Amino acid sequence: MGTELRGGTTADQASVRRNNLSVVLAHLRDAGPRSRARVADETGLNKATVSSLVAELVQRGLVREGEAARGAVGRPGQTIVVDGGRVVAVGVEINVDYVSALVLDLTGAVVAEKRLALDTSNMAASRVIGRTARLVSSLLGRAAPADAHVVGMTVAVPGLVEGAAGTLHEAPNLGWVDVPITNRLRRALGEPGYPVLLDNEANLAALAELHAGGHRDLLLLTGAVGVGGGMVAGGRLVRGARGFAGEVGHMQLDPHGRKCGCGRRGCWETVVGLKALLAAAADEGDRVRDPELDVAQRLAELNARAADGDERTLDALAGIGTWLGRGASVLVNVLNPAVLVLGGYFAALGQWLRGPLTSALATQVFAPNAGGCRIELSTLGFSAAVRGGALRALEPVFDDPTVVPA
Ligand SMILES: [Zn+2]
Repeated sequence: MGTELRGGTTADQASVRRNNLSVVLAHLRDAGPRSRARVADETGLNKATVSSLVAELVQRGLVREGEAARGAVGRPGQTIVVDGGRVVAVGVEINVDYVSALVLDLTGAVVAEKRLALDTSNMAASRVIGRTARLVSSLLGRAAPADAHVVGMTVAVPGLVEGAAGTLHEAPNLGWVDVPITNRLRRALGEPGYPVLLDNEANLAALAELHAGGHRDLLLLTGAVGVGGGMVAGGRLVRGARGFAGEVGHMQLDPHGRKCGCGRRGCWETVVGLKALLAAAADEGDRVRDPELDVAQRLAELNARAADGDERTLDALAGIGTWLGRGASVLVNVLNPAVLVLGGYFAALGQWLRGPLTSALATQVFAPNAGGCRIELSTLGFSAAVRGGALRALEPVFDDPTVVPA
């Protein structure tokens, strides 16, 4: 502001302009379609400036004129909306038993999505990355419009991530240690012109939940072979000093328990991870334990068995619910979230887990009424992490719309 008053340099003016473009674009995303006059009113920018900013955003293909709306002064004004036509971002997930990819447009709408059942923990990392690159290429080639501008990609993985280096430090359930995923994926994709980021899958899933539900204090527990935690406090992801926060699956809840993939004993995921559930619910050779079968189908089968009153399935689910409650109570005591969101397989089988989890929170959380914490089932299914990944890859456009060429 001060620079503007002093007349400013060209660089200062360019930076003020970029900032104003960001304010207008983010406001249209958050507040929805509205007239130029209303944008001016609500952002405090003057009307002529907003008109000029909107013209530039239209030129870059980021917003477009929508339907006629009644303006603040009573005269019909043209509504401005975020344009989903040109800019897309990609979320990718590499996890145990599957890889998946999802393309979002700038409005956050899904353009395309595909999940591939893949026995990743028994494959070399280079082969998995090769298959992932082919999945992304075919999805973009098939679904995105020919003139689409890909602004970025985020890869979600179930493990400790050195974000800046794009390296997966350790993912016990994949058996991967120090894999430079972004470098290898970029090479497999033929060095694309957009940035490729790496992040923890539960963090990205929590980001997707934050966008979907708008709860500013939430704890996401996502169940797959591993168990991940994504914590949002005051609307921001809690990442910790080095980005390793949220490894809740490795809290030791049973010192005499089973050996965990991480080498320790009795970690939470040894009692509530998907393997623990499947081992309790079915014998080896049962189709629900077949890694070639898509995980959603296997869970649908378990839901059907539980609904039929199959005792073994119901006992297995009750056991998971009890252990889920023990660990979740510790976390709710620490974080006091407004909402505990169950994701991944916990959501798919949530109707059977909600009861034991609710009683555990009621008795094991110190604050009355579990600190007001409500339990919700994610509606994002196994897409949460890829959706969060694509949302994260879109963020630079909202921070600086000039990253998209006119
Ligand atoms: Zn562990």
